[in-house]
Amino acid sequence: MSAEISGFRRFLHWGPITALSIIKCVTLTTLYMNSMWWPPNESFAAFAHQALFLLLSTLATFNYIMATLTGPGLLPKQWQPKDPKDTEWLQYCKECEGYKAPRSHHCRKCNRCVKKMDHHCPWINHCVGWANHAYFTYFLLFSILGSLHGSIVLSCSFYRGIHRYYYLTHGQAHLASVQFTVASIVMCILGMGLAIGVVIGLSMLLYIQLKTIVTNQTGIEIWIVEKAIYRRYKSENYEPFVYPYDLGWRLNLRQVFNEECQKRGDGIEWPVVQGCDQYTLTREQLAQKEEKRARTRVYKCISPVTGRWLPIFSQGWRVCVNAPCTDEPRIRLRPDDIIKVTRFRRHWLFGERVLSEQEHAAGSEKKSQRKGPIRGWFPRRSVVALTEVPDSESSDDIKPVKSTTSNGHTHGKQQQRNGHTKKCM
Ligand SMILES: [Zn+2]
Ligand SMILES: [Zn+2]
Repeated sequence: MSAEISGFRRFLHWGPITALSIIKCVTLTTLYMNSMWWPPNESFAAFAHQALFLLLSTLATFNYIMATLTGPGLLPKQWQPKDPKDTEWLQYCKECEGYKAPRSHHCRKCNRCVKKMDHHCPWINHCVGWANHAYFTYFLLFSILGSLHGSIVLSCSFYRGIHRYYYLTHGQAHLASVQFTVASIVMCILGMGLAIGVVIGLSMLLYIQLKTIVTNQTGIEIWIVEKAIYRRYKSENYEPFVYPYDLGWRLNLRQVFNEECQKRGDGIEWPVVQGCDQYTLTREQLAQKEEKRARTRVYKCISPVTGRWLPIFSQGWRVCVNAPCTDEPRIRLRPDDIIKVTRFRRHWLFGERVLSEQEHAAGSEKKSQRKGPIRGWFPRRSVVALTEVPDSESSDDIKPVKSTTSNGHTHGKQQQRNGHTKKCM
């Protein structure tokens, strides 16, 4: 697989290039407009005003660079818990040839297991996780404050600029300090648009991050806990699920933010609430995986699937009317593709396309990969249920399907129910 990207090479990607260009564009435009609107050499207040803006811009850039360079903290390859017996509570990562530590997840983009993985952020071209969570959050905060400041300066100077003629003709020449050229008016409007866009977009991200930190539950863990609750709602035989890492908002905040702005612990062992242990969450993950495996069925594609959201021409109106109401991806399929299906609807199925041998051999070489996602929804009428697992897949993820599903069209719901009621622990 591709070599890991290290150091400054992380910045050679559309995400960091775009993000840094936006920061620089807003900063330089604001400084330029501010030099006419409220020149820093005019008074101490004007100087402090510009210094404050520069400070916010510098802090945003610094935390951005640190979030990218520090990275989320990668779990060492071939990682094993101290006590070999504990491996029974952990998932194995084939890619990293080791066990996944509690709260670690494998990132397909980074191609490594990441400690306390929250999400892969294309803007920093790295994951957000244990080691860079604080830098990332500070970056969001200072970008929002800096852009808010910038958008106020730009709006005010824009107003002054377009009223320049009015000020000059109405005896208010002292207000006519902002003088536009074609280039500067374009830059001012662009800078304003970017600054306001950053404030709106990043505020939502910051809200999500703060919620994640205050509850000590990453985006991935929210998903796991939701499934844990759903499993218990479906069957009363399970004990109620206690999320092990929520220590109360003060301690949760302190795990990410502290005086030294340094990461805490090793990102592998985590303090847990009473009654839980290091493997409470991983045991739940294993049980969920087992349930998923039990309801997985293998299908083969018999007619091409376009991957469109409403494939009216290729699949007909019935399939379109019953399309799943989610924003999850739709996948493209070719005849003879094999798909491992985990969710079943009357007209649609959700699953993962099994990569062909050529695709496996090609690894991450872009040109030999097929376009589009490999996990998603597709119309049921383009596939047939297979009774056996193809040879190439017999090794790992999926166990042979014992019960034959001769008619996938009518047995889907039944299979799903069977999957949910199977006991795993
Ligand atoms: Zn891994
Ligand atoms: Zn990643």
